[in-house]
Amino acid sequence: MKKIIIAIDGYSSTGKSTIAKRLARELGYVYVDTGAMYRAVTLFAMEKGLLDGEEPDRKNLIRKLDTISIRFVPNADLGYAETYLNGTNVEEEIRSMEVSNRVSAIAAIPEVRHKLVEEQRKMGEEKGIVMDGRDIGTVVFPDAELKLFMTASPEIRASRRYKELLGKGKKVTYEAVLKNVIDRDYIDSHRKDSPLIKAPDAIELDNTDMGKDEQFERIYNHALRMINKKK
Ligand code: C5P
Repeated sequence: MKKIIIAIDGYSSTGKSTIAKRLARELGYVYVDTGAMYRAVTLFAMEKGLLDGEEPDRKNLIRKLDTISIRFVPNADLGYAETYLNGTNVEEEIRSMEVSNRVSAIAAIPEVRHKLVEEQRKMGEEKGIVMDGRDIGTVVFPDAELKLFMTASPEIRASRRYKELLGKGKKVTYEAVLKNVIDRDYIDSHRKDSPLIKAPDAIELDNTDMGKDEQFERIYNHALRMINKKK
């Protein structure tokens, strides 16, 4: 059976990664979380003291980009791959509110995007991939066979994310999560390089009032249709 590329873009906390992981599992495809890559670069910048001020120290970050290695290592117990930054498992750290609050500024730096987009394209060379992010259907894989664009109201997204963080034992307030969701949407949609926009040929899915299974069924059927077209 021919393999395709599935690009899933959309706003923060719209459930892209949950759907993408499940889709990859059902299809036997590789799942790539590109947000984790931007988060890993942000963590690197924090660790190197390049995010101590209001604005990132862009010059020194760009200078050090070649020393950043990001890998996804499958964890059989968890059923998905974890993110490694220069050999260290950072899966937990990159999900902190601190990283969430700084990542969009780092992701707006063109040199950072250039490096990560190049790596993402390499991962998709063999097809059979589900990749989620903000610019996958527009920039990384403009020829992807299936493109999805996910949206939901900011309040519902913040409430889902808030519950998820509480479940992980994090101390956060709903207001702080809502502000983070709104701020990231704004920066991601207004940056000059590869802003978050819906590709003209992407299928839009507003999941404000939609359950996970219904969403998955719809997307899975779209994927099967595209795969069958390829045969
Ligand atoms: O997907 P996630 O919410 O983990 O992404 C974190 C941040 O990384 C986004 O808010 C965005 O600023 C950035 N990002 C991006 N392009 C991508 C994926 C993520 O700019 N393809």
